[in-house]
Amino acid sequence: MSVNIIPKCQSTDPADYITAEGFVMPCCWMGNQPFIKEYFKLFADCLDEMSIHSRTLKEITEDPRYQRIAETWKTQPLEVCQKMCSQQKKEQAQGQDRYVNIFTN
Ligand code: SF4
Repeated sequence: MSVNIIPKCQSTDPADYITAEGFVMPCCWMGNQPFIKEYFKLFADCLDEMSIHSRTLKEITEDPRYQRIAETWKTQPLEVCQKMCSQQKKEQAQGQDRYVNIFTN
């Protein structure tokens, strides 16, 4: 089953996230357990180069390998992206907004 990802990190006001260890990623969700394990796996061959301790933020985010995250959206999105930025998640949030509106209006 394919999951349609609507990436918040590609919004009009994107912001990169840097973990306490220096790893650069598109959002803070990815930096938390258990999702960070997916990040480590995705960049296992170049993990040191994804850290601001070895390169600048610009060098990392402009590195074609950084696009591996976005490439997963086309085939097998990372679990964190499915949980936080899927079409289903968006619809659930809209449903919750409607629920809140019923009781606040
Ligand atoms: S969960 Fe995935 S798609 Fe959503 S903001 Fe983070 S990296 Fe982007």
